[in-house]
Amino acid sequence: MYRILIIEDENDINNMIKAALGKAGYECVQAFSGTEGVLYAKTEKFSLILLDLMLPGITGEEALTKIKEIQNTPVIVISAKDSLDSKVELLTAGADDYITKPFELKELLARVAVQIRRYSGTHEDKAEKLQYKDIALYKDSFKVTVKEDPIDLTKQEFRILELLMLHPDRVFSKQDIYDYAWDDYYIGEDKTINVHISNIRKKLKTVSDEDYIETVWGIGFKMK
Ligand code: CA
Repeated sequence: MYRILIIEDENDINNMIKAALGKAGYECVQAFSGTEGVLYAKTEKFSLILLDLMLPGITGEEALTKIKEIQNTPVIVISAKDSLDSKVELLTAGADDYITKPFELKELLARVAVQIRRYSGTHEDKAEKLQYKDIALYKDSFKVTVKEDPIDLTKQEFRILELLMLHPDRVFSKQDIYDYAWDDYYIGEDKTINVHISNIRKKLKTVSDEDYIETVWGIGFKMK
């Protein structure tokens, strides 16, 4: 469920936006001043923030700056101010989009959908990235970097490192590793895993002197 924070001091407009977004399947939280909006942004996570500019207390512009310091949630500014200067200023200040009052709900919904798609898209990418110390592993692209330098791993080496990085505190037996990294059954060849681990270590060493993988004698391997 995507959560949207609506910062708008006019009750009618705030309620109207909430109703329209609610109908479209979004969960909405309403704030009626800039101060309240910033407070919500500080304490809760949102998929998107709609921000009116003419607000009591701190202005929308100030709220925008504060929100962008707190979270990288996309912000769509809604305002009657439609001079080109203020649009450019707001986009420069970190607004992701701009809607001028009066607006059609259809337009608002379309712009909301675009921002949410963009934002959740980048989030899925992040979920597909594993990070352990300075090793980054990108599951989708089969890419591994150490200190941002790419290293070349075979498919099995990649899968082994992926498993270890998924649970860095856990010790994995050779059986576990084989089951995860190979499609066929474990055939009890301990040497195979040792060779692959040793290759991964060598490849990591080409970039960093650090020892990343620990051998737990008699049990298996884990991240250090
Ligand atoms: Ca207002």
